[in-house]
Amino acid sequence: MAGAPAKAAQLPATAAQASSTTAAVHTAVPTAANPLPSVDPVGDPANFSVLVNKSRPLNPVSYAPGDLVNARGSGQYLRAEAAAWLNGLFQGAADAGTGGLAVVSGYRSYAQQQQVYSYYVSIYGQAQADLISARPGHSEHQTGLAVDVGNANGSCGLSTCFGDTPAGIWVAANAHKYGFIVRYPNGYTNITGYSYEPWHLRYVGVDLATDMKRRGFPTMEQYFAGNPSVYASITSGADLVAADSSGRLLRYPAHGGGGYGVPTVIGSNWHGLKQAFVVDWDSDGVYDILAQWDNGTLGLFTGWPGGAFSTQIVVGTGDWDKMTITVGKWSAAERFPGVVGYFPDGGLRYYPNTMGRSLIYRVDIGSGWAGMGLTMADWNADGANDILATTTSGHLLSYPGNGNGGFAGLPLTVGSGWGTMKALVPSFGLSGPGTRSITAHTVDGYLVDYGLGAGAWGAQRQVGNGWNGMKLFK
Ligand SMILES: [Zn+2]
Repeated sequence: MAGAPAKAAQLPATAAQASSTTAAVHTAVPTAANPLPSVDPVGDPANFSVLVNKSRPLNPVSYAPGDLVNARGSGQYLRAEAAAWLNGLFQGAADAGTGGLAVVSGYRSYAQQQQVYSYYVSIYGQAQADLISARPGHSEHQTGLAVDVGNANGSCGLSTCFGDTPAGIWVAANAHKYGFIVRYPNGYTNITGYSYEPWHLRYVGVDLATDMKRRGFPTMEQYFAGNPSVYASITSGADLVAADSSGRLLRYPAHGGGGYGVPTVIGSNWHGLKQAFVVDWDSDGVYDILAQWDNGTLGLFTGWPGGAFSTQIVVGTGDWDKMTITVGKWSAAERFPGVVGYFPDGGLRYYPNTMGRSLIYRVDIGSGWAGMGLTMADWNADGANDILATTTSGHLLSYPGNGNGGFAGLPLTVGSGWGTMKALVPSFGLSGPGTRSITAHTVDGYLVDYGLGAGAWGAQRQVGNGWNGMKLFK
């Protein structure tokens, strides 16, 4: 899917020259600040991709996860998602005839780790203790994502011989299917800082674990090489993604100064799209693509931290081609972004994304929406997304969201003359850290970026031209 930068002549330009505006706007009342999406999963202690080792303590060092559960009733605790996948792992090991697994150790708090480490130092001295135990704030067990496992019969407990037992062999070959990796493999002490521990499993999620396996990275350190986000196909909420008329998928990297750099081809054969969206659908800190196909399928392509995308995961089937949709966190309490959209009958529906995968049910939240263009953005910066809707008469209306899957009050007219827009794309950080904007694709092929304040428009300028024939991913 990845490829060399495409030839400029075949691509729309992105010159940032001064522009006459194509839509009139007026202001509303400012309110509060707006949270921005995280783009550094490796540094976020709550992210399943977090990289913790001797030189990368948790930040903050006293971090404690909020969703610990008793893993398999063992009295050892793990974060809920890791515990759920551990059930599958144990079932798989049992089904394979290995004799089964047992939970030995799970979550350890900062204070508990301090006791463990001090105990080892008192017995072995600091140098040896550092090889087999983590200093407080530096342990994967403090993330709630690490679990030490052993044979159900207790043999080879916390010993390297576990790796030679049927269960240990099976775990090393199959843990990735359940989102786990053997974190300290044999022969990589100089990289991980730890002796071989075939029993220490770390939950990183199926996508990352599978990608490490597929591409042959034995350790997280090598996989991320100190800087994960540079490898992801879409690295920033300010990057622009579009498909051209020959079906190539192009990423225009935001250069931080309010414009875009040279595009890279990140995919091909993207024909038959009604619309597509760049969104972190599974909330793993790496942008994914949600594709709404002309054949009625809604498909997910999860971005891998190491670059490129998964093959399509179908998250919806049926008449999705007949819907006009927008994608984002419509309910602030939801962990994953969902879909808001309408059929030609004009009935507006909210589809919560409860699993980070398939859409399972819908909620009716409005009527009379036929003919509107939809974009989800936090217009009034109250922390809850709003629906920006272009009407058939070219007005731009902001319907305030209540942050709970519904609306809070009447719409506000925030612009007129927007009938000349083919697409409106929310953007984060295009004009520098913390900035928000709406990038508009005009019918005559210009890209115009409209700064977003708190319920007010900021500066507007042209950021591209010649985009006729391009399909901008919302
Ligand atoms: Zn461990």
